[in-house]
Amino acid sequence: MSENHLFSRLAAYADANPDKTFALRPGREPQSFGQTFHNARRVSAALLAAGVQPGDRVAVQVEKSLEAVELYLGAVAAGGVFLPLNTAYTASELEYFLSDATPSVVVCDPSRETEIAPLAETAQLFTLAGDGTGTLADALTEAAAEPVSRGADDLAAILYTSGTTGRSKGAMLSHDNLFSNSATLRDYWQFTENDVLIHALPIFHTHGLFVATNVALLSGAKVHFHAAFKPDLVIEAMPSATALMGVPTFYTRLLDDARLTPELASNMRLFISGSAPLLVDTHERWEERTGHRILERYGMTETNMNTSNPYDGERRAGTVGFPLPGVELRVMGAEGPLPSGEIGVLEVRGSNVFKGYWQMPEKTAEELRLDGWFITGDLGIIDESGYVSIVGRGKDLIITGGFNVYPKEIEALIDDIEGVLESAVIGIAHPDFGEGVVAVVVPENDSLTPDDVQGIAAEKLAKFKQPKQILFLPELPRNTMGKVQKKALRETYANLFT
Ligand code: AMP
Repeated sequence: MSENHLFSRLAAYADANPDKTFALRPGREPQSFGQTFHNARRVSAALLAAGVQPGDRVAVQVEKSLEAVELYLGAVAAGGVFLPLNTAYTASELEYFLSDATPSVVVCDPSRETEIAPLAETAQLFTLAGDGTGTLADALTEAAAEPVSRGADDLAAILYTSGTTGRSKGAMLSHDNLFSNSATLRDYWQFTENDVLIHALPIFHTHGLFVATNVALLSGAKVHFHAAFKPDLVIEAMPSATALMGVPTFYTRLLDDARLTPELASNMRLFISGSAPLLVDTHERWEERTGHRILERYGMTETNMNTSNPYDGERRAGTVGFPLPGVELRVMGAEGPLPSGEIGVLEVRGSNVFKGYWQMPEKTAEELRLDGWFITGDLGIIDESGYVSIVGRGKDLIITGGFNVYPKEIEALIDDIEGVLESAVIGIAHPDFGEGVVAVVVPENDSLTPDDVQGIAAEKLAKFKQPKQILFLPELPRNTMGKVQKKALRETYANLFT
């Protein structure tokens, strides 16, 4: 059999244990590991028949389904480069991705076929609905292809970054980027075939697609496979599950549910959070309610996972733990690496780090150093015991009257005020100061006023750090991965001082 670096490794457990259950889905029959990989090899045969050559992109914008997971595996097995796209993207957004990536196959939801067909004229177009039906299913026969030979450094996937500044960039991920990181996480988080993972994340993003899916496949863990995050389904699944991977919003939503108790979580061994900062308050409330300390980790599309709080040992709230085995991490200042206790830009190096941005050599050169260090753009700090904390995105740094203000410091102070649920601190163009500090605050109830918050800020913060305006909002704008959209806030309030 030919060696396909990622597929062969992901298929190893399934080939040895074909009858073991892989996925449980509400209202559907359980599906085995063997069936999942047999289907993936059938998809691979169909893609090869459609003309997919090694390195060709297979672009996919479909609802989350097990068939979509089989499509991911089938695309990799066929030697293709899997390119998942957020289901929220509109036709005009898709036009950019498809013209940039020039896929040879595009798979979309049947409801969008007529809209997408003109954007994919040079590609073969298939459809795949959330229930697994569509022209892709129609094209499958019993013929199952052997994986096409691909090496460790060949591309397995391109994931477009969320593009908070400028155009979205296609992060090129190799077979070994994906395999090595999944193997590291399986070992670090001690996943085994006895685990049952609640999989409620989207699979167009690195978290749900690679962290959750690959770790489960590699370790032989069963998954409760949910098409979307529904607190009711998670609560129903928890007594028969052992692990949950989620974004912070999962945890805050579950905390709102009275059914969340230590008994409900008594079979669980691990709650993992990432993709956006987990509030210390959420961490503490989760422990009070369930007896479990959430394990927070840090990663990004370009690098897979970089750091994690320890499995055994102290999971420290507000930190993202230590660099994972095989990952080097440093904090860079203007003159070079900084000692612990100082804030700088986080850089990482290791087999997890991507191969560059698709067709953007200048962008790649700006962010990926020749010696392999990737400049993450995240501002961070390492304390004396080695725990890493994220202080914010570099571009969120506020420079007011020539002084640097780290939003996280002010957010932490505001979040600690009685009656504050959460906050986001941004810089807005200011005629005198260059940028003025603005705090957007979500109060818990009506008892708190902006003046109260201003009073506390005035008492505790140097004058230049004090918000020049405090705005109360019922909630912060967030994307599907739970990230606060500071860019949207900056746009909304762009003219606040002018
Ligand atoms: P993405 O490429 O969509 O996964 O976004 C990656 C970015 O999410 C990182 O560069 C960080 O800014 C942020 N991020 C991911 N995990 C965490 C975390 N645990 N705490 C704070 N920020 C995080």
